[in-house]
Amino acid sequence: MQNRKYERGFITVIYADNAATTKMSDVAIHTMVSVMNETYGNPSSLYRMGQRAKEVLEKAREDVAGLINAEPKEIIFTSGGSEADNQAILSAAEIGRKAGKKHIISSAFEHHAVLHTLKKLEKNGFEVTLLDVHQNGLILPEEVEAAIREDTCLVTIMYANNEIGTIQPITEIGAICRQHHVLFHTDAVQAIGHLPIDVKAQNIDMLSASAHKFHGPKGVGFLYAKKGIRLTNLIEGGAQERGRRAGTENVAGVAAMAAALKESAEKMEANAAVLTQKRNKLISGLQEIPHGALNGDAKNRLPGNVNFCFEGIEGEALLLLLDQKGILASSGSACTSGALDPSHVLLAIGRVHDVAHGSLRLSIGEDITDEEIEEIIRSVKEVVAYLRSFSPIWRDLMAGKKSFIL
Ligand SMILES: *Cc1c(COP(=O)(O)O)cnc(C)c1O
Repeated sequence: MQNRKYERGFITVIYADNAATTKMSDVAIHTMVSVMNETYGNPSSLYRMGQRAKEVLEKAREDVAGLINAEPKEIIFTSGGSEADNQAILSAAEIGRKAGKKHIISSAFEHHAVLHTLKKLEKNGFEVTLLDVHQNGLILPEEVEAAIREDTCLVTIMYANNEIGTIQPITEIGAICRQHHVLFHTDAVQAIGHLPIDVKAQNIDMLSASAHKFHGPKGVGFLYAKKGIRLTNLIEGGAQERGRRAGTENVAGVAAMAAALKESAEKMEANAAVLTQKRNKLISGLQEIPHGALNGDAKNRLPGNVNFCFEGIEGEALLLLLDQKGILASSGSACTSGALDPSHVLLAIGRVHDVAHGSLRLSIGEDITDEEIEEIIRSVKEVVAYLRSFSPIWRDLMAGKKSFIL
């Protein structure tokens, strides 16, 4: 019960925002606390407790590497997914710049950690091609191939999208990049721990991960960079992380991340089966709401992701009313909610502004019950009907002054 609910006043909540962050697992919390209590030495210190901390760190590196079929030396611990994305892209750009290659390929619906880093590079003389995303939320490998030029130094395409959950053909894109000798980075923050990853079989040169999206702690993640790729430092200082990321290591956080990832990997298949079934039930229930539509491909999506647009309502109002009913959801990514601009992801898949404003993301966790799924469906139906009852846009739609899109 504790995993999904907490008492807040008299209200019990249903947590359906796992794409924003997840609750730490018991094993991750236990690992973190025991490292903080028992192995609090600095891994750079020479006495035994420091060396034990170093061992904890290196064991975590081995575990994490093993889980994605990488070598321990290829793992750099970071403060999370954003830092890993920044370091991967800026490193590839630096390698490209030295070789006279200043063209990068990405997609229009990447996380802002990728898009804003690319913007910065554009200001510094790089050319960026952002591929369009199809209406089903997918990018085709042949479109990536067609965009590759002589001067392309990097392709960066996310594994699974954080808002609409669609899973990209990463293996095929990786193979194309390898064939054309172009570096391939994937932001796998939403995928890792939920989908299988094998960096060798999938031809991935660089990959970003964040612990708090798979029941690990916030503020810790890692960058996988294939042997031989020279990383550019974002933080200068000591020689930690083989000189690629200065600063005393977050030993407890890293150990907890490794424990959480190991557990997620062990339970991946079982969790995916349960989640897919619950997700499909949630989708079917919400599809009964008129003039609404699922965003992103119905099948090729993360097992726990549901994302809808409903015409004639504001996503923010929907969220606030759901919160009052104890249902915690999101209208897009946590980083942009609060902003009144519609989600760049929904615009990228071709939703018009009016429709994109009425979005709802429910990202469920594996311990959600059938009763809770039913409660979500009931509540969303009620709240959408209530909001439409006094929406001027809905009135115009019903009066035929505006035409329905969905
Ligand atoms: C959450 C997320 C990030 C950022 O990770 P942080 O650890 O929060 O910095 C990057 N990319 C995607 C796809 C995400 O979902």
